[in-house]
Amino acid sequence: MKITEISFEGYEKVVRCDDPESGLKAIISVHDTTLGPALGGLRMWPYLSDQEALTDVNRLSQGMTYKSAVAGTGLGGGKSIIIGNSKTDKSEALFRAMGRFVDSLKGLYTTAEDVGTSVQDIVLIGKETKHVTGLPRSMGSSGDPSPYTAIGVHLGIKACLAKKLGTTDLKGVRIAIQGCGNVARYLCEHLHAEGAELILTDIVQEKVQLVVDACKGERVSIVAPEEIYDVECEVFAPCALGAIINDDTVPRLNCNIVAGAANNVLLTEEHGDRLRERGIVYAPDFVINAGGIINVSVELEPAGYNEARAIDKVNNIDDAVRDILDTSDEENIATNRAAILLAERKLAEGRKAKA
Ligand code: NAD
Repeated sequence: MKITEISFEGYEKVVRCDDPESGLKAIISVHDTTLGPALGGLRMWPYLSDQEALTDVNRLSQGMTYKSAVAGTGLGGGKSIIIGNSKTDKSEALFRAMGRFVDSLKGLYTTAEDVGTSVQDIVLIGKETKHVTGLPRSMGSSGDPSPYTAIGVHLGIKACLAKKLGTTDLKGVRIAIQGCGNVARYLCEHLHAEGAELILTDIVQEKVQLVVDACKGERVSIVAPEEIYDVECEVFAPCALGAIINDDTVPRLNCNIVAGAANNVLLTEEHGDRLRERGIVYAPDFVINAGGIINVSVELEPAGYNEARAIDKVNNIDDAVRDILDTSDEENIATNRAAILLAERKLAEGRKAKA
């Protein structure tokens, strides 16, 4: 196993692992540990180039620093990626090698599940290192973070509705959901139970059907993946992949609010400015989707995981979203910029306290 350090300005440690024996090609990016050890998921994705992989893991890692800073988890930001196809390239040897790679950082970085990895993969990693979270409940861990992320997104959507439309009543509110995966499935349950009308899409038809069936076919419709941006609705909830708010999609949006689970929703920070110019309220991704990391962070508390405590903490996400929306108005800046300001302020306080 060959581990190479890559120097990257603004990042505490970025390391790459090449292990010909298992086929592992992976990067761990530790962005900032001012507020605690870095925690963030492991993504498995068929990146087209090493540069693309490095850019993605660093961007995600910085996002984790901001997410944990705003949510007050007492953790720093990190992320890891495996370059590979999650459908064809998985093996026990691959994840055990990843476990040894994580272990080589001696606790600077703790890993968890993310896009392309499952709890079973994390269990294999856990055979080689203790620096893992999100193992099954049966192992005393916090389990799948998706339901907690969904609770936070649900509350955040209501905070945005209150700001933009003066109500938190979801009855008859049209919500377009991009991606019907793990988080969206739970999110749709909450929204539908409160009377929302759901417009769904996914590139995998069976995923959409699961949500349609859960809603018993009532107040639910389906559009093609490309059409989701044009849907006339109150809320557009991106729950698939990142960078989908861009030059092409901003002019097409036909909604009052953008608020969903996906990470790195904006292609660039300027796209947050474009949303504000259009009068669309945007709930910054790393504020509204912090429920999962909050849940996992409770697992690392001295008393160990406690679900009631996790839910109590996740229930503060609407306050966090409200604060950001108010700051954005007071400072006349986009909501994503207000969120970064708050995160940077918390990091500066942390650095001062440590000095
Ligand atoms: P998931 O893989 O279960 O769901 C994503 C869904 O999006 C899949 O069903 C996929 O088929 C669909 N999809 C992909 N590309 C699409 C496209 N172009 N159009 C429509 N659908 C498309 O993932 P998840 O765990 O539900 O996470 C969703 C998003 O939320 C990701 O961006 C993830 O990083 C973010 N997030 C998840 C959590 C969590 O707790 N799982 C926490 C924070 C952030």
